Amino acid sequence: MSDKTTGLIHHPYVPPAGFAAPQPGVYKASTVIFPSVADMRSREWKDKTGYTYGLHGTPTTYLLEERLATLEGGAQCLLVPSGLAAIANVGLSLLKSGDEVLIPANAYGPNKALAEGELKDWGVRYQLYDPMDGQDLARRIGPKTRLVWLEAAGSVTLEFPDLVAQVRICRNANGGAGVLCALDNTWGAGLAFNAFDLVPGAAQRLGVDLTIHALTKYPSGGGDVLMGAVVTRDEGLHLRLKRTHMHLGLGVGANDVEAVLRSLPSLSLRYAAHDRTARALARWCQTRPEFAQVLHPALPGSPGHEHWRAVCGEEEGRAAGLFSVIFDARYSQAQVDAFCDALRLFKLGYSWGGPMSLVVPYDLAGMRPTWPAHLARGSLVRFSAGLEAVQDLQADLAQALAAALA
Ligand SMILES: *Cc1c(COP(=O)(O)O)cnc(C)c1O
Repeated sequence: MSDKTTGLIHHPYVPPAGFAAPQPGVYKASTVIFPSVADMRSREWKDKTGYTYGLHGTPTTYLLEERLATLEGGAQCLLVPSGLAAIANVGLSLLKSGDEVLIPANAYGPNKALAEGELKDWGVRYQLYDPMDGQDLARRIGPKTRLVWLEAAGSVTLEFPDLVAQVRICRNANGGAGVLCALDNTWGAGLAFNAFDLVPGAAQRLGVDLTIHALTKYPSGGGDVLMGAVVTRDEGLHLRLKRTHMHLGLGVGANDVEAVLRSLPSLSLRYAAHDRTARALARWCQTRPEFAQVLHPALPGSPGHEHWRAVCGEEEGRAAGLFSVIFDARYSQAQVDAFCDALRLFKLGYSWGGPMSLVVPYDLAGMRPTWPAHLARGSLVRFSAGLEAVQDLQADLAQALAAALA
């Protein structure tokens, strides 16, 4: 090999085996090299004992998948480019024309938008159900229902549903044939409760069929990565999801996977810190006359608090660092917007789970078919507690209230 370029591309040096370090090596590949034609022909995309193409898995993506499956109490995991891609992967795998999907009225907004958009165009019907009315879900399940989405706590309004009852309804639906239930478990992060085993110690395991996560939130923890995951406990269901995953070409970048692998060991500690701060701030907000209601499932009196206690823990329990407030109806939207603008540490921005505290004003009237009876009337603002000191965040809320509402 006299040519330098050829020599570099086919350089014979192989580093010695046996390297060990706290963090795993990162493998990047579109092409994967096979040792022989026979090997190339015999390998299959769905077989995780080998490699076929970068899109279908590398040691780096397999590693994160296995760790996430363990975290979640599942058996298989698929990585996708965002939490929303995980939701889409599930819908596009399991629903076909003529089928129906049920979505809680307080679900993550883009889940409903996908149902109202592409799924509807493709002949898939959807209904929104009231997650806080145990009978509403049971009433709406019919022979065409193929998939039920669950979310705990719900997005933005943070009601905690009776998850155990909801899963039982799905199990017993259609004369005992059952209907698949999928949980958006971004809030719980695999830490607040075990979605695949909701009643530990029960004679028969009671859990959802699959979970999705926005790894974008706490698993990344940096506010700098977009990624999602779909976790299952059933190989057949996993393969249905994986087939669509392959056909849609849903790959993730190795550098992003590396970032999540690096963040995972501190996930539980960070989750606890976000939780402590959010609860302290939510309790403080309860003492303030500006707010008609404070929404945080771990606070007694918040919608679904008893359901949160049932699956997240009798004692302190665990919760994500999110809470919402509904301003007293005497304040105009302009005043509430001014409050958000006056905040200095809480930054205006979507998503959550990173070190920086965030705030978003939501138009609840535009998000729900009707105003839920368990929510006070008024403008809603959602906070995500970051990792700043709680006294600094509380002072920020106090100064913004004084500046905007005095
Ligand atoms: C953020 C979020 C998603 C979507 O995650 P992306 O990675 O931003 O697409 C899905 N579900 C819930 C509950 C979320 O909070």
